[in-house]
Amino acid sequence: MTGIIEVENLSKQYGSGTKALSDVSLSINEGEIIALLGPNGAGKTTLISIICGLVVPTGGTVRVGGHDIRTDWRAARKLIGLVPQEITLEPFETVMNCVRFTRGLYGEGPDDAYIEQILRSLSLWDKRDAATKELSGGMKRRVLIAKALAHRPKILFLDEPTAGVDVALRRGMWQVVEELRREGVTIILTTHYLEEAEAMADRVGVINKGQLLLVKPTAELMGEFGKKTLTIELD
Ligand code: ATP
Repeated sequence: MTGIIEVENLSKQYGSGTKALSDVSLSINEGEIIALLGPNGAGKTTLISIICGLVVPTGGTVRVGGHDIRTDWRAARKLIGLVPQEITLEPFETVMNCVRFTRGLYGEGPDDAYIEQILRSLSLWDKRDAATKELSGGMKRRVLIAKALAHRPKILFLDEPTAGVDVALRRGMWQVVEELRREGVTIILTTHYLEEAEAMADRVGVINKGQLLLVKPTAELMGEFGKKTLTIELD
């Protein structure tokens, strides 16, 4: 079966310096949730940035929904929503307008009923008229998700969605992901936390020093290593 995302022999060297990815191959099925787990500098953001068409690889191929990301970028990009690690929002805009604006960027016409549905599912409806600068960090992250969903993508990338948020908000984020799973959205998230991968993902890919060390069903990985004795060498 061909996955909704097919990555083959991907490599990336930034300039003449860091080799950020080495020969990474990965197939992701439609509707699947996959967590990319690894320490700082492992290559997680580089991998998802290449799949999203934002960084050009040194070698290898990426197909998204059957579209080659290099030659058929527009068609591939329509299928993708990206929630970046950095919080970048229009500070003086209301939550509602932020999401409307993003929808327009994708060439989609207005659909406030759909935006209401997204904002309600992210518990943001009560904040729809608030300026984004007034929101807490956790709420801002939810607005980023709402923006990423504005054009109804089939695939959502979450780059460290819970970095810097407290335990309660982290669990809230897990619930959001669970809801999106029920809607059939394919989700790729990056994380430093094994417990987060366990809570959300069907499969976990462990990445370190630019290499995808393994990809396994979460239950299998947890069964092999157990929470307390995970001994994969990550430095
Ligand atoms: P983190 O968990 O800290 O976000 P990561 O796993 O997402 O890390 P990347 O951001 O992909 O890792 O970085 C992989 C390597 O590539 C690192 O050594 C990083 O310094 C380097 N790198 C990333 N972006 C660039 C860039 N634009 N120019 C040069 N080197 C870069």
